[in-house]
Amino acid sequence: MTLAETPNNANSSNPFLTLNYESALESLGDDYYDEVAPAEFPQHILRWRNDAILPRLGLNPQAVTDEDFITAFGKFQERKPLLALRYHGYQFGEYNSGLGDGRGFLYGQVRGTDGELYDFGTKGSGKTPYSRGGDGMLTLKGGVREVIAAEALHHLGVRTSRCLTMIETGLALWRGDEPSPTRSSVMVRMNRSHIRFGTFERLHYLRRPDLTEKLLNHVIEQYYPHLIREEDKYALFYAELVQRVAELVAQWMAAGFCHAVLNTDNMSISGESFDYGPYAFIPTYDPYFTAAYFDYYRRYCYSYQPGICKLNLDMLQEPLKAVIAPDDLEAGLAHFDDYYHTEYRSLMLRKLGFEQLQNPGVNELLQLTIQFLQDSQVGYHQFFSEMARTFSSKWRDDPAFVMHNSDIVPALGTSPVFDNWSILYHKILNDFDPDQLDTIAQTLAVSNPKTVLLRPVIESIWEPIAQEDNWQPFYELIERIQSRD
Ligand code: AMP
Ligand code: MG
Repeated sequence: MTLAETPNNANSSNPFLTLNYESALESLGDDYYDEVAPAEFPQHILRWRNDAILPRLGLNPQAVTDEDFITAFGKFQERKPLLALRYHGYQFGEYNSGLGDGRGFLYGQVRGTDGELYDFGTKGSGKTPYSRGGDGMLTLKGGVREVIAAEALHHLGVRTSRCLTMIETGLALWRGDEPSPTRSSVMVRMNRSHIRFGTFERLHYLRRPDLTEKLLNHVIEQYYPHLIREEDKYALFYAELVQRVAELVAQWMAAGFCHAVLNTDNMSISGESFDYGPYAFIPTYDPYFTAAYFDYYRRYCYSYQPGICKLNLDMLQEPLKAVIAPDDLEAGLAHFDDYYHTEYRSLMLRKLGFEQLQNPGVNELLQLTIQFLQDSQVGYHQFFSEMARTFSSKWRDDPAFVMHNSDIVPALGTSPVFDNWSILYHKILNDFDPDQLDTIAQTLAVSNPKTVLLRPVIESIWEPIAQEDNWQPFYELIERIQSRD
């Protein structure tokens, strides 16, 4: 029997159906969502199951069958209510009051073995009151791309959603940005909260401070529980959100990741990264690298991301003023730059091999690294993975040895910036004892995996799927990502 012919009867031994779902959001009342029905699909072919995250749900992967995934997340059996969440948002700077879950819903909320509340959110599960002109569907390629982004970012240390499963659903979709007809999928995302900045913006638009306060209490209770008993919990919540978002965007920047659509409906109130559409990893250090073809003014280009996230936090102050004093909000946002720079600096130093570095040359090293990457346009990821691959104790002996046997340096010819960089790197290495060089080599290796999801790589995974339904390269790629190769 093929997966597509799985019988339609619900199986009460399905571990996904017997999870202990909590109605955290549902219990707030129906001002925040609409109950919806899922689409029925002509086909259900399981393409991806993320066994790595099942233990966090208290599930043993071996006890979960492919049919269990399909029954729960392809056929949506025995699960009610399914909630399309209401939200608005600033899209490319323009306020849009016509948003909301247009092709997904909150399938359920589950407490992980870590004590945290997780959402299962679908994408591509059918029309809702917020679909506007859309078909409510997700392309298979879109599903593949989000699975890859979430796994890659997670393994690069970014605080991100993961994908629990992706099921091909047998519909022919028409899209302007993919050769069409193109195949369809439903993807289930597991993250900390689908409550967005735009969820609060909607309540401000509707002039409902009462609903803002209620939602904020819920957010603090579930996602900032250590603040519940603090007298100034609201101000502390915003200050911590600022810190989480600043650190998140620093993680993207160090990972060379461009999210592409930093609208306020794509910003989670838990400070976690999610919703990966036209994202890209930067091929080289180009501050103006822009991932979305429809981002005509480069609003969300690579180097604008910290500023945009700060702006989004600033705009969130408007709805939060219903509950939090403006001075407290300003005071919270004032720390954004510090949090960002501290995290970015520490992550970049790790990419350069250093866990901690109290050296007067640190700022200069970071500045020279960026300047070199930008001037030379060598591959951003390749530069660091070549450092990791070729690192040797000889680098401590003479600056001329630094990266001398890497693939990229000979190709550069003479570069004054690289010379300055290697002289400084050599000098810093001499502050370490020879027996500490192993630790540097290890830090370089774990901080700079070889597998990088540049667009041509993702396309090379997609092509065999599109041409001959060959999923092997996709599974192999995910394995390499998961083993941090
Ligand atoms: P996104 O760009 O994926 O963050 O989506 C922005 C808004 O458009 C959200 O309200 C989505 O639910 C909605 N949307 C995107 N694609 C579709 C679609 N194919 N059908 C219905 N709604 C969609
Ligand atoms: Mg979105």
